[in-house]
Parts: sequence; C-alpha cells; structure tokens
Amino acid sequence: MEDVRLCPEHGFYRGERCDCGYEGEVIIKKERVERLGKFISGVLRHFPEKFGLEMDENGWVDFEKLLRVVARKYRWANKWVVKALIYSDKKGRYELKNNRIRARYGHSVKVELNDMPDAEEDLLYYGTSEEESIRLLELGIKPVNQTFVHLSTTLQKSEEVARLRTDDPIILEVDAKKAREAGIRMIKVNEHIVLAKEIPPEFIIREIRFYS
Ligand SMILES: [Zn+2]
Repeated sequence: MEDVRLCPEHGFYRGERCDCGYEGEVIIKKERVERLGKFISGVLRHFPEKFGLEMDENGWVDFEKLLRVVARKYRWANKWVVKALIYSDKKGRYELKNNRIRARYGHSVKVELNDMPDAEEDLLYYGTSEEESIRLLELGIKPVNQTFVHLSTTLQKSEEVARLRTDDPIILEVDAKKAREAGIRMIKVNEHIVLAKEIPPEFIIREIRFYS
C-alpha cells in the first residue's frame, strides 16, 4: 500500500512521485489508505445493509450517506479524504458520479450492473490452479463467494491474478465472442476486468500452461 499524495497539476496519486516527477504532500498515509480502502470496498461490495445503506441494482449508494457511515468509523476521513482515496485508486475499484458511489467489481451482494458497457473482446482469460482447472473444464466457470466471474482482458493480467493464489497457474482461454453470441452478458469494468454471471464449459477453448 502506498501513501496518497496531491500534485497541484495532476491531482491525487499513489506513491512518492506523480508521473510528472513532482513529490506532492501526503494526504493519506498508507496505513490509513489500507484501512479506509478495506472499509469502503467492504461496504460497497459486501455489506451495505449492515450500515443502513440502500443500494440499487446497479450497485449505487448515496455518496453523502456513505460519507456519514465512514465518518462514524474514522473521524479523520472527511469528504476530501474519501475523494482522495477514490480518485487515486489505480485499479478503478470505485465510481463516483451524480453524488452516488459504487464499487465497479468484486461484489458479493446481488447486483446487475446494467448500466455498465458490454465488453467487446473476442477472447478473455481466467487464471486458476491445476486442481481447480479440471473441475472448471467440466462444469464451467462459476463465481465463488462473488456475484460475478472476474475475467481478464489479457493473458498477462490473468497470470498476475492467478499467481497471487498459486505458484503454478493455468490460464483458461474463453471464447467471449461465441459466449456473447449465445446470450451471455459480458460487462466491461475497466481496461483489465470483464464480468460475467458464468462461463459454461463449451466456451472454454484451451488451457495455457507456464513452464519454468
Ligand atoms: Zn503531477
């Protein structure tokens, strides 16, 4: 985790220096970035109702109400601090629009995300382990403890994700074009992530292995 800093020219960023080379002042120290990020993503992905927040089917929550929930837990986290966290997030976890906020992915609450764009990729990738892949090839890819399956737009990204969980990742290549034609909705979350409710086995084209 990195500090959130402010560049007068380019806004909030993570790390020591802005891309322009400027070393801005620290707005949120990394320990707080971690705690605040965990809490806000937890609320928006998993337990909005625990804090009395109403979420619509696209995952949106009233931003002012979220701020009140956050301020009750972390008194130092005012609106400016929360915005600094959100706008500096490199992974595009959050979206803030029309005074509403949502998580863009990672939900375990039931959401539809109908207002997100469709993905147009022909191929998508899903990283898994050796043992797991056997089951997935037979039964298809289904979400585990999540609302959607999270697919990667590139082989490289899926490998990165899979290596967090296993030393010997196997990447499943998905025929997204065919799946789409068969009526499976693919949601484009950001440059790297595409969501789908499930990928039936017939759309898994092949396994890609890495030899080291
Ligand atoms: Zn800058």
